[in-house]
Amino acid sequence: MPADLHIHTFFSDGTQSPEEIVELAKKGGLTTIAITDHDVVAGIERAKKKGAELGVAVIPGIELTTEAFDSEIHILGYFIDTQSAELLEIISKIQKSREDRIFTICEKLQALGVKLDPDKVFAIAGHRAAGRPHVARALIAEGYVKNFKEAFVRYLDFHGPAYVSHYKLSPAEAIKLVLAADGLPVFGHPAVSACDQCIPELMSTGLVGLEVYYGAHNQGQTQHYLELAEKYGLLLTGGSDYHGSTSGREIKLGDFSIADDLVEKLKNEHLRRNKS
Ligand code: AMP
Ligand code: ZN
Ligand code: FE
Ligand code: FE
Repeated sequence: MPADLHIHTFFSDGTQSPEEIVELAKKGGLTTIAITDHDVVAGIERAKKKGAELGVAVIPGIELTTEAFDSEIHILGYFIDTQSAELLEIISKIQKSREDRIFTICEKLQALGVKLDPDKVFAIAGHRAAGRPHVARALIAEGYVKNFKEAFVRYLDFHGPAYVSHYKLSPAEAIKLVLAADGLPVFGHPAVSACDQCIPELMSTGLVGLEVYYGAHNQGQTQHYLELAEKYGLLLTGGSDYHGSTSGREIKLGDFSIADDLVEKLKNEHLRRNKS
């Protein structure tokens, strides 16, 4: 009964609707998925409805971008209450800041000789949480770069010349928000952040899990984080970080999955904490 606990829809920077995601998950043989859009929960209800129709369990999730220790740290939240007033207030501020950020990225690009109209980016993003992948797609469409990789390497990477910070959220604040929404906070794709020394500090503010199994982790990295999760007593999670078919990372839902017992452990921890 395989599961994939890290999936984006077009409500953030994925390319597919929540319904399409559930259909593809079903086709790929997944029985549980988590929708973890960046800084937004708008796709969850639609995914749940489709999941109920097709027999795919949908865990409500989110992925919050934070910065600390000179790296980006992504905090995943599982089993969140999508009506949490605290969470909704902050994510609406983050949405506004994401919009402002696109203008600043375009100004930085302009200074580098790349004339990209912010409206081109917003046209690609629609009315969704705009981000760097939408800028990358606009750069490709305008002929400035050949592909995603080039867009990130030349301009958009964390230390790239057109990088602009997100809404200032610390990992501790993100963890607190997830907990306030009765969710379980998990450190997403730890090898990407390369900040192992952050883990004890994140735990001191309430971290409960580590995304040991990740689409882009190699075997050595998976083993390394498996050992760290055991050492620290963190729950194990895993997901593909699927973004759809035109996002520059071509994978199929179902190609990557984790065993159901990991989901059971996560679910039990959520129940244990929230029975009152
Ligand atoms: P943002 O939330 O606007 O900072 O965009 C973050 C998203 O950009 C990530 O979730 C990835 O989907 C994508 N991304 C980040 N770095 C890269 C990269 N080097 N190549 C391709 N996509 C990337
Ligand atoms: Zn993304
Ligand atoms: Fe991420
Ligand atoms: Fe992600």
